[in-house]
Amino acid sequence: MSSPANSQNVGDFVNQLLHHHADDDGRLLQFLIEIQGRYGYLPDEALNLLSQRLRHPRAEIESVISFYSFLHRIPARYRIYFSDNITDRMLGSAGLQQRLRDGLTTSKGVEIASTSCTGLCDQGPALLVNGHAIGLLDHQRIDDIIDLIQRQIPLKEWPAELFSVSNSIHRRDRQMQFDAMPGDALRLALDRGGAWLLQQLEASGLRGRGGAGFPTARKWRLCMDTLASDHVVVCNADEGEPGTFKDRVILSTDAHSVIEGMTLCARVIGAKQGFIYLRAEYRFLLPQLQSVLIQRRQQGLLGKSILGQVGFDFDIDIHLGAGAYICGEESALIESLEGKRGIPRVRPPFPVQHGYRGLPTVVNNVETFWSATRIAIKGAEWFKQAGSGQSAGTRLISVSGDCSRPGVYEYPFGTRIDTILEDCGGSPALAVQIAGAAGNLVPADEFARQLSFEDLPTGGSFMVFGPQRNLMDVLQNFAGFFRHESCGFCTSCRNGTRIVDDIMRRFLTGSACHTDLERLQSILHLMQKSSFCGLGCSAPTAFVDALQKLPAIFDGCLALTDNGPCFDVEASLSESSDLLRERGSDHA
Ligand code: SF4
Repeated sequence: MSSPANSQNVGDFVNQLLHHHADDDGRLLQFLIEIQGRYGYLPDEALNLLSQRLRHPRAEIESVISFYSFLHRIPARYRIYFSDNITDRMLGSAGLQQRLRDGLTTSKGVEIASTSCTGLCDQGPALLVNGHAIGLLDHQRIDDIIDLIQRQIPLKEWPAELFSVSNSIHRRDRQMQFDAMPGDALRLALDRGGAWLLQQLEASGLRGRGGAGFPTARKWRLCMDTLASDHVVVCNADEGEPGTFKDRVILSTDAHSVIEGMTLCARVIGAKQGFIYLRAEYRFLLPQLQSVLIQRRQQGLLGKSILGQVGFDFDIDIHLGAGAYICGEESALIESLEGKRGIPRVRPPFPVQHGYRGLPTVVNNVETFWSATRIAIKGAEWFKQAGSGQSAGTRLISVSGDCSRPGVYEYPFGTRIDTILEDCGGSPALAVQIAGAAGNLVPADEFARQLSFEDLPTGGSFMVFGPQRNLMDVLQNFAGFFRHESCGFCTSCRNGTRIVDDIMRRFLTGSACHTDLERLQSILHLMQKSSFCGLGCSAPTAFVDALQKLPAIFDGCLALTDNGPCFDVEASLSESSDLLRERGSDHA
């Protein structure tokens, strides 16, 4: 339970916080998260003090708060967010949410809402209560939560098993079968030199595991070659793509390898400063990650003169996100690390040239750093013996949805979809969604296709839809997700996501007409061509796939009569203008 807020104790707490971090305004978001963690909301007194001490107008601080879904100005004793990912919906999350609402109608200070994917799709349905994740929800668990809230039991006294998160790893290939000992990769890199390490990475063919697949060695080299007083390493642990949870499993089972990979990168590019940007939904991993950092400092693997090498100084700070999917985009993530709203930056310059606080910065995914550690120890040849064509090695896949064995699987690139479906107990399936809501919707007659950069690239999500599913439900869920997560910066995405969602609702309710179908196609095309960042450009992918490959699901939902235009453009755009005002976007 949070502490009650009064001017005196809020002032003391905020002053201490600011003092501890030398009034560093780049930590604004972290200050807000800590203040909310203490009081359950962001009191006026705290914002006034932050504004004074950090010399930021109060309105600017409010604008940062309004950008992040998990920051609140209104007190609530319990804030409960149900994961609204499609796989949670398929497991009955809407009914469970209603049961909780019904059970708590007379309870005061309880806020119940939905949020995007919480990263527990292998143990859904899931929710967050005051930022803490609870999975495997069923009627009994919901009734237990109702009872705890009605009796006003503080969260820290709730039964620990409610918050237990397990890691279901069903298939280990060469990378997961190998246990990397802390320090082994670093010792080799110090022995043989940064040039050797870069050469190994280059020869291995490792590409970024976040989805875009940029060659890792090239990124590190570009950053290393940019002259600057310092360089920065950032681990993107903002795993927000619906259906993806393999980074959660890596961080909870082998954080040493991830941090060692970051330290290898620091050695190559000459960085002293590193960050792990951890999504708010994975806050439960924070104590464990902090303890790994402490252990590594004690073992001489982080901090000053790493492994006795004078001048090799590198340390890592963990920053939390606050519920904004767009912060998974690397330039938006850097904005958020600097304490601002996570709006993607204009590029070029790219982060490797001008990143965190203007310094050349490498941003890589959790799995990329984890793999770099293995490549340093086992070598490029070992790594690339697995894989296909332009896609070397193995990668981790998060499997969820209609299958009997959801969890994490490691496969060589080039593995066919039907192989994965057999392994996870997902056959026969109607379709699978590769790479989260922004990826490809693959129908059953294409299950011979392969996961690889050449065929179906993926950030690691694999959602299975069984024969009983209505794919229109799936598409409408994706449309709602993008409408919520669009940062509102550019017109085509801000308006496009809202219009697509409105049209999809019409299809779902059987009131769409042919004009809607045509408008949907043209809006999707516009978004792909003119959105500012990857979110807007990739949001149409699943809809375009469905229109091309599964047109019957749209045709079957058209209204029987078509009396001309039935979509209210004015209403949709006026709602979008409201959003623009609300988010204070500066670019239309
Ligand atoms: Fe924001 Fe535009 Fe990117 Fe959409 S495409 S998330 S509105 S910058």
